[in-house]
Amino acid sequence: MPLRFFNTYSRGVEEFEPRDPSARHICMYTCGPTVYSRAHIGNFRAYIFEDLLQRHLELRGYKVHRVMNITDVDDKTIRGTGEAGIPLRKFTEQFKQAFFEDADTLRIKRANEYPAATDQRYIDRMIEMISTLISKGLAYQAEDKSVYYRINKFPNYGKLAHFDLSQLQSTGRVKHDEYDKEHIGDFALWKAWDEEDGDVKWDSPWGPGRPGWHIECSAMSTALLGDQLDIHCGGVDNIFPHHEAEIAQSEGVTEKKFVRYWLHCAHLLVDGQKMAKSLGNFYTVPDVLAKGYTGRELRYALLRVHYRVPLNFTWDGMNEARESLGRIDEWLARLREVVGSARRADRTPRRGVPTSKFEEALDDDLNISAALGFLFESIRETNRAMDQNEMDAATANAWLDWWKRINTVLDLEAEFEIIVPPEVMQLAKERENARREKKWKRSDELREQISVLGWEVRDTKDGAKITRRGAA
Ligand code: AMP
Ligand code: ZN
Repeated sequence: MPLRFFNTYSRGVEEFEPRDPSARHICMYTCGPTVYSRAHIGNFRAYIFEDLLQRHLELRGYKVHRVMNITDVDDKTIRGTGEAGIPLRKFTEQFKQAFFEDADTLRIKRANEYPAATDQRYIDRMIEMISTLISKGLAYQAEDKSVYYRINKFPNYGKLAHFDLSQLQSTGRVKHDEYDKEHIGDFALWKAWDEEDGDVKWDSPWGPGRPGWHIECSAMSTALLGDQLDIHCGGVDNIFPHHEAEIAQSEGVTEKKFVRYWLHCAHLLVDGQKMAKSLGNFYTVPDVLAKGYTGRELRYALLRVHYRVPLNFTWDGMNEARESLGRIDEWLARLREVVGSARRADRTPRRGVPTSKFEEALDDDLNISAALGFLFESIRETNRAMDQNEMDAATANAWLDWWKRINTVLDLEAEFEIIVPPEVMQLAKERENARREKKWKRSDELREQISVLGWEVRDTKDGAKITRRGAA
């Protein structure tokens, strides 16, 4: 079965056919952070979804070239730098660093390139694109000296958001003259400098000013990936106006179809509301770490639900993530034990070996819930076989190889071996002695004490095995 993705443009699930199928090379652009404050974990839900998409494409043999922009000039960064009283570059640099730190904590694979909007190379390109749009009648300079996109002149405007332009016209509640624009929906390509911008300005044919947010992405994506992209991603809030504007700008200039597949992830919610800076209902990655959780646990919590389904963030959800990872850790430890204790290496697996159901679930519009469902079903079944000492080393090896393969997508393996604390080891030893002496009551008491500490003892034919509680 080929890969299938839900394309926001057509509002349907489509078979994935990249521009150049034979080269298996994919150009992917993902809208990155606006570096005016530390990104919250809602932003990271979007970046983790994009990470999953890239890794799955790579598992399926594609070579992905991914660009993620850094928005380091816009209204919010200018306000921030003014309030902080430091230069724009210095102000944004700290949040850029924080972004990479958090992305590493969450094991998000680095993009190939992270262009910054303020790089003179891209400012020049933005100016060039705006000039072309003006010469084609698609943009105009208004009385306030800013340059706007003339949306009435671009027939496809509204196609991505499935938005009816005439409705916007007919509402007409906002006074046009307040905006110096011909149409209320016209958006700024170049914003004329005003006092509040301080020393944040670039020269242009229209006077000093700065680029609008939308043109930044059109300029950086086409500069680095060419006129036509295979995939463009973001959160659903990016669909309108940001991505709609990107299409109008890029196609207005190149007259070629800008993006083949538009993929958008649903929001991370808190109490049913979008997690957002403006609502003050957000957590950052360090906030979650400060509560004692790991980056791996947060990665799992943000990854485990299908990207088009809104996900409510709760601390119970974080605890469930911890429990699920504990099960994976213990399962891997048991499989390794079976492989390590084999007297001779069996060559042919005797029991059922892994199928490709995990990958196939991801082929189906990245159905991670189904893929993880299959993983945990496999864990249950193989654990049962190991409980009954029916797992041979070759089969265990096949499962470990399978895990290695699917973990290139999940990236959820524990970094360290599970270390059983010495006090638990001591209690386990005492319990073994008690059992040897047939002191069953004492043995049960010790098992209880071990359990209180969060561990579990299992008696196998090879002696007692200690695992983290709830991991089986
Ligand atoms: P911003 O820095 O606001 O431009 O956002 C960066 C990315 O995070 C964009 O792709 C947004 O769509 C996405 N985003 C923002 N808030 C959320 C949220 N609560 N859940 C998921 N994605 C979000
Ligand atoms: Zn963008």
